[in-house]
Amino acid sequence: MHQTNLIKPLLGANYPVIDYGKGIYLYDNEGKEYLDASSGAITANIGHGVKEIIDAMLEQAKRVSFVYRSQFTSDAAEKLAQKIAELTIGDLNWCFFVNSGSEATETAMKIAIQHWQEKGIHTKQKVLSRWMSYHGITLGALSMSGHTGRRARFIPLLEDFPVIHPPYCYRCPYNLEASNCGHVCAQELDTVIKRIGANQIAAFIAEPIIGASGGAITPPKGYYKVIKEICEKNDILFIADEVMTGFGRTGAMLACEHWDIEPDIVALGKGMGAGYAPIAAALVSERVMKPILAGSKIVMSGHTLSANPQSCAVALAVLEYLEKNEIIKEVDKKSVYLIEKLEKLQDNFPFIGDIRGKGLMIGLEFVKDREEKTPFPRELQLTQKLIQLAQNCGLLIYPAGAGIDGINGDSVLIAPPLTITIPEIDELIKRLQVTFQLFSNKYLSVREG
Ligand code: PMP
Repeated sequence: MHQTNLIKPLLGANYPVIDYGKGIYLYDNEGKEYLDASSGAITANIGHGVKEIIDAMLEQAKRVSFVYRSQFTSDAAEKLAQKIAELTIGDLNWCFFVNSGSEATETAMKIAIQHWQEKGIHTKQKVLSRWMSYHGITLGALSMSGHTGRRARFIPLLEDFPVIHPPYCYRCPYNLEASNCGHVCAQELDTVIKRIGANQIAAFIAEPIIGASGGAITPPKGYYKVIKEICEKNDILFIADEVMTGFGRTGAMLACEHWDIEPDIVALGKGMGAGYAPIAAALVSERVMKPILAGSKIVMSGHTLSANPQSCAVALAVLEYLEKNEIIKEVDKKSVYLIEKLEKLQDNFPFIGDIRGKGLMIGLEFVKDREEKTPFPRELQLTQKLIQLAQNCGLLIYPAGAGIDGINGDSVLIAPPLTITIPEIDELIKRLQVTFQLFSNKYLSVREG
């Protein structure tokens, strides 16, 4: 069998061939049903097979599928940019369309550097970030990422950007309590800036909630205010990587809204095309664009398929679908229900150490001993085993434990399409319970549940 994907099948199992998708379910060519509790890679935010999106795509295809961005724009691209500007906080009025989250964060990085160059400051070239963060797989994006596993092979090609600890309260690097920690891990940024020199640093990039490499690591109240103040004081731009959190995933259009902060640049992706088409974007505020518009007037970045009309038509239809069906407004209610059910599971399964996150981006961290928060030995690869068991049970969940210094190898994300209904959450929990029971019986010596 030829696979387009060269990743070794998990634990020797074959990759199922998906035949079709409907709502929160996928069906393979042998008729097996999978409840997509991870929206693929936190992408299929409105579920599969939505007619309005397919219609919009077809409509655009009938008119024109491709125009080259430096020759033409399109109705779809213009309307999408306009709508995004309307729906996002602050004055993020400039929209640079690309095709993946990695391109979006790299574009954000380049625009930040160019912003300072246009002001005559050519030394500001670094983009600092946090360990345990993930900003993409291309070399610039990977340079900003604190995902040690994904960096390892390419270290000589990467800049060594990440600098500060993440706000990982479950395992606070300073052994403090979130309620009165003084946000020491955010204050670290100030110390690091002093060491490196603010004149070397263009921007600081952060995922408002850390997704792929931590499992929904959510900062305590006040954390981002401290970060933002430090950035402003030092003339450093703040880039919010909302590739995973954006487009309603956490119950707001942008997760930054939860902490009332206005980023200078935002990277979007994943849920933007909701899996129907590849599209991502860097949103840029007026203040960041100003010197560029007064200077060279052109952003030194772009791809052949940037602002592809068909992808733009899809993203516009996704936004209209979210609005028309008031989907983002309903996320909080569903989140409360899902967390309550997960907490009940936690009562029965002591290996669930932590439940965290916001909206429909919930992380579970697994531990050998809940009291001591002892992680499982990484070589056991328990997350991979759990995910395979879940898949066998017709449930898709997402691995999210990159670890930091060898700690926290075992986390997953539960992030179903935002369109999931309450009875469908019950079904998700039912399948998760069966999975946990099998996992417990098969891999953990003490029987639970
Ligand atoms: N940033 C974040 C926060 C992400 O979660 C991801 C993907 N997991 C990326 C960037 C990279 O996106 P892509 O895989 O589309 O390049």
